[in-house]
Amino acid sequence: MDNFRFKKRYGQNFLKNQDIIEQITNSISPTPKDLIVEIGPGGGAITRKLKKYDSRLVAIEIDEETKPLLNPLEDEKTSIKYADFLEIDLNKFLNDYSYEKLYMIGNLPYYITTPIIEHIIDSRIPLESLTIMVQKEVADRFLAIPGTKEYGYMTVLLNYHFDIKKITDVSKKDFEPMPKVDSTVIKLIKKEEQDIDYDRFKQFLKDSFKFKRKTLNNNLKAYNREKIQKVLEDNGFSLSNRAEEIDLKTFIDIIKNG
Ligand code: SAM
Repeated sequence: MDNFRFKKRYGQNFLKNQDIIEQITNSISPTPKDLIVEIGPGGGAITRKLKKYDSRLVAIEIDEETKPLLNPLEDEKTSIKYADFLEIDLNKFLNDYSYEKLYMIGNLPYYITTPIIEHIIDSRIPLESLTIMVQKEVADRFLAIPGTKEYGYMTVLLNYHFDIKKITDVSKKDFEPMPKVDSTVIKLIKKEEQDIDYDRFKQFLKDSFKFKRKTLNNNLKAYNREKIQKVLEDNGFSLSNRAEEIDLKTFIDIIKNG
């Protein structure tokens, strides 16, 4: 690592705490028949530990200057692909592999946390789980419960797709170079798809949370509010509540019946 020039533009803060690396890699239990996709392997700290599973392992890294660090990790079950993860057509990419379960793991720059998660969701790939390092405040938002100020559009959307589990908090001191903020590793475990009009659900969530301080009555003027009011009342709410007070089940009920 001595001669490596860390690049800010790629959010390169490499993990150096072995205990945290263990906790990340131990968050999954794949078999040799499964596929692990690592996003942003960097110096290979996580990659190296993932090899213990003897699963097919593909790591996707944007920075070709990491080649001297990553290429020695390649073997018949481990390969490195140099590409921007956000530009990859994931369904096409996965067609090249046969596997039972798919696990994803990534310690990525924080500015692409949401685009990465949305890319994975929108690709509708057959995912078991995604273990990801996020800024601590972002984890608080993802794990928030209704009625708190952290609870928002992404909380509901993510909880629709995943069970969210906190793996561990990570101090900024556990990285080289040291970033400005602390982090949290979370595991997103894929839930069954529900039989709803997903695009409508997403749009409805966006509209409900459009002006966070406003009530649903104000944010949902373009909708049939009588029907929505009925479903809200059945769930113990009303149009005078704000979106941040409404739980996932109620949002789903509205899309099914409202
Ligand atoms: N996983 C390593 C670790 O834990 O030490 C490196 C983590 S570092 C925070 C993020 C890594 O993601 C960097 O190696 C960076 O070059 C890579 N990266 C940034 N943007 C990327 C993208 N769009 N696609 C793939 N890799 C990316």
